[in-house]
Amino acid sequence: MSERVVVVGAGMVGHRFVDELVRGDREERFAITLVGEEEYEPYNRILLSEVLAGRADLRALTLPLPAAERVDFRRGVSAVGIDRDAGEVLLGDGSRTPYERLVLATGARAFVPPLDGLESEPRHVHVLRTLDDCRNVAARAINAKHAVVLGGGLLGLEAACGLRRRGVPVTVIDLDSHLMATQLDGGPARVLAGRLRALGVDVLTGVSVAEAISAYDELVAVRLIDGRVLAADLMLVSCGVRANTALAAGAGLTVDRGIVVDDALTTADSRIHAIGDCAQPPSGMTGLLAPGWAQASQLAATLLGREPLEPTEAAERPEPITLKAAGVDLVTMGVRPSRAAADDRVLTVSDPDAGRHVDLVLREGALVGVTVLGFPEVSPALTLAYDRQTPVPLDPLSLLVTGGGGAVEESPSPMRMPGTTTVCRCNGVTKKQIVSAWEDGARNVDAVAANTRATTGCGGCREVVCGLVDWLNASDPAESVSTAVTERNTPVETTT
Ligand SMILES: Cc1cc2nc3c(=O)[nH]c(=O)nc-3n(C[C@H](O)[C@H](O)[C@H](O)COP(=O)(O)OP(=O)(O)OC[C@H]3O[C@@H](n4cnc5c(N)ncnc54)[C@H](O)[C@@H]3O)c2cc1C
Repeated sequence: MSERVVVVGAGMVGHRFVDELVRGDREERFAITLVGEEEYEPYNRILLSEVLAGRADLRALTLPLPAAERVDFRRGVSAVGIDRDAGEVLLGDGSRTPYERLVLATGARAFVPPLDGLESEPRHVHVLRTLDDCRNVAARAINAKHAVVLGGGLLGLEAACGLRRRGVPVTVIDLDSHLMATQLDGGPARVLAGRLRALGVDVLTGVSVAEAISAYDELVAVRLIDGRVLAADLMLVSCGVRANTALAAGAGLTVDRGIVVDDALTTADSRIHAIGDCAQPPSGMTGLLAPGWAQASQLAATLLGREPLEPTEAAERPEPITLKAAGVDLVTMGVRPSRAAADDRVLTVSDPDAGRHVDLVLREGALVGVTVLGFPEVSPALTLAYDRQTPVPLDPLSLLVTGGGGAVEESPSPMRMPGTTTVCRCNGVTKKQIVSAWEDGARNVDAVAANTRATTGCGGCREVVCGLVDWLNASDPAESVSTAVTERNTPVETTT
């Protein structure tokens, strides 16, 4: 008899877990039920800010379930309780679904601070977490005359730029002394604020909203803590997220900031696991997708009785963070200058008038921290150097010189890129795997994505994957594939 696995939460991590389990379960040992409270097929949540900016289409966000007939997908239904004695999940429609294994992938929700004036729930105050949120914000943007985005973190800035792109004047408000305080030091943050203002996004830092002022149940203005009043008929609250832990807590499982699990992603009840944004493993919570997907793969491998894949070298370093905002190119990773160790070497090039800023932090001759703003042409090479910990040139500033002998031009070239280079960090896909997919017949980016999953996360690697596919396709078709690939990989072997 098959083992009943119930997954609660059909977000990006729950979906990935089911995908991995179904693909690996050739003998059909598992009977899988997926419970999702949203009305939709699983979708790529990361790209909602791109949809808001009008740079991606809602229809392109769907994440298909493999062998859908093998998964009993209950969509539009919440899990409201867990009866651990009976081994059953209680659903909002009154039914119960039995499990031998329960995987909680309930994710997180947007946090809304308790502001005066919000108790009456005025219209036009929104968050951006779900597809419905995105639709609602986009619909309001059609008539909004002035938007306020509360929270100048990554998501708040992406949303602000998206609204601006839709023609809405926007003010970003953040209590910290500068934008993206979790990732950036003051210097680059000030250059970033200048860049945003040039795009028409106003920025107020060191201040917050005290009150949402409404008339006839509609938001009309916000009062700031310093007494200023700003007209606003749309407020997007982007003040971080809170893990969805109520289901686990209600079942008596240990909950802290998230659902507490061990290194094997198991709660104190050996039949119940937690993965993704809701889980709090010993390594901590990131709120980012790549670690959640890695947990999904790890747990699926455990259930399938396989060794989990070794994490790539790059996955062991802190994730690079990319601001996906129209008109702003910002990537930051690793150690920032204010957190550098005494022996670290810090180089800063700042050109506020041109909206450009670079910080490099070097440790023992390798890059351990990078912030690149307004320099899209050098960020792929710097990310590679950071991922691979390659020795930096004698003059590290030559990393910023494109062409003319700088290191920049060389590293990202598809031909010279080592096979072990991680191209898609969200999915941990290396160049070698992309070359194998091409060898197996994947001749365009979509086919490579279907084979390897590269590009299906944040999409930031799409350009590099395109470059690799173009380069592979441009190879002499008369050559035998294996010869071509061996030759192509020659520099790989010598440079790794
Ligand atoms: C606009 C936006 C942009 C982002 N950009 C990035 C980025 O660039 N890079 C990055 O790494 N991360 C980004 N993130 C974060 C990333 O989306 C999350 O890390 C990821 O979605 C986590 O996946 P998850 O499945 O754990 O949780 P979620 O995606 O939150 O999914 C959880 C699902 O569980 C459902 N659920 C909850 N409780 C129940 C219940 N009781 N019963 C049934 N269903 C339930 C929820 O409705 C939801 O559908 C972004 C997030 C947003 C909103």
